[in-house]
Amino acid sequence: MNISILGSTGSIGTQALEVVNDLKGIKDINVKAISGNSNIDLLEKQAREFKPELVAVADICGAKTLKDRLSDTDIKVVGGEEGLIEVATLDSVDTVLASIVGFAGLKPTVKAIESGKNIALANKETLVTAGNIFMDKVKEYGVSLLPVDSEHSAIFQSLQGNSHNKIRRVLLTASGGPFFGKTREELKNVKKENALKHPNWSMGAKITIDSATMMNKGLEIIEAKWLFGVDIDDIEVVVQRESIIHSMVEYEDKSVIAQLSYPSMKHPIQYAFTYPERMPSPDKALSFKDLGKLTFFEADEETFKCLALAKKAGKMGGIMPTILNSANEIAVEAFLRDRISFNEIGDFVEKTLAKYRNIENPTLDDIFETDRMVRGENKI
Ligand code: NDP
Ligand code: MG
Repeated sequence: MNISILGSTGSIGTQALEVVNDLKGIKDINVKAISGNSNIDLLEKQAREFKPELVAVADICGAKTLKDRLSDTDIKVVGGEEGLIEVATLDSVDTVLASIVGFAGLKPTVKAIESGKNIALANKETLVTAGNIFMDKVKEYGVSLLPVDSEHSAIFQSLQGNSHNKIRRVLLTASGGPFFGKTREELKNVKKENALKHPNWSMGAKITIDSATMMNKGLEIIEAKWLFGVDIDDIEVVVQRESIIHSMVEYEDKSVIAQLSYPSMKHPIQYAFTYPERMPSPDKALSFKDLGKLTFFEADEETFKCLALAKKAGKMGGIMPTILNSANEIAVEAFLRDRISFNEIGDFVEKTLAKYRNIENPTLDDIFETDRMVRGENKI
């Protein structure tokens, strides 16, 4: 298998490269192309270790620096969005791991589909913002789309062998994040340092904040709607504090099938790389004896209004999920720069959603234009 990794320097990208190493001698995965944005040191290190044909740096200055640094090798270095597209569409590649964070991943991932690449999808924002177009293109170009998000991988695994059976409910699990059990009042003064401390997962900054606000679960509801063709009303969020059950599917006979493992993104990444096969993994085996018990709660949509807003935007459909996503990206960045408080993230998303009219069946151009407009008109 020949792969490209969009976002190889991130939390998912680096773990994907670990999986490639873990699978050596079991399944040959050749890393043909990688990309990053700001972490030139790590990109150089990855390029020297995995010897891809091509490396792209989204930041043009960074691309120049990396080109100089890799001048003793025959690795091609490219820059900017065009460079990311080259990584996404490289001839020798059959599978692209889409692990850029946020809206920036949309164009290269769409180009990858259009050039017939199978997609291992971590970048949930692409499905949230352009789910209708994304899924149509996957069908049109006959490529496979394998979920990397742990919940969606769990749902996908729970669906195996059941393609003819009707789904009654999808039970999407959530850890509850670092602020589980708190009230809105108690969250008034929390700092980014507190929000960045996730109890169970170590991830990039944006998704860690999304987990703290539970916007992440809201985005995942929309992601599940597109990936599995289920209505938002048939997706129920279940807080599973230990992050052992990664999600579940309930069938008509009310039987519930789940996927369990200790929290590790290497598990869903590996499954996306080896599907339909399962291969040995260095991950620790579950010990039910050590676990003792699993705890479940209902999600609190009052404190975590981002979850309710995402559901609402997802149900409205059209361009609303694009506006939700753009507003959330603006707000999370502002929070990370200490410009707004934690509760203001949800307030800003709510206010921004209320400002715009819906567009039914948006085109890809509508989506890019709306994202630009929302970012231009709602600066923090
Ligand atoms: P990180 O922030 O750790 O990594 C993001 C990657 O994207 C890095 O390689 C970064 O490059 C690159 N990047 C950032 N901005 C741009 C840009 N404007 N153009 C091109 N590349 C860019 O994020 P994660 O790995 O945590 O998340 C990646 C995606 O996977 C997200 O959509 C997230 O929701 C999803 N996901 C992540 C999980 C996790 O456990 N981390 C779990 C499930 C889903 P650089 O570092 O060089 O600046
Ligand atoms: Mg997830």
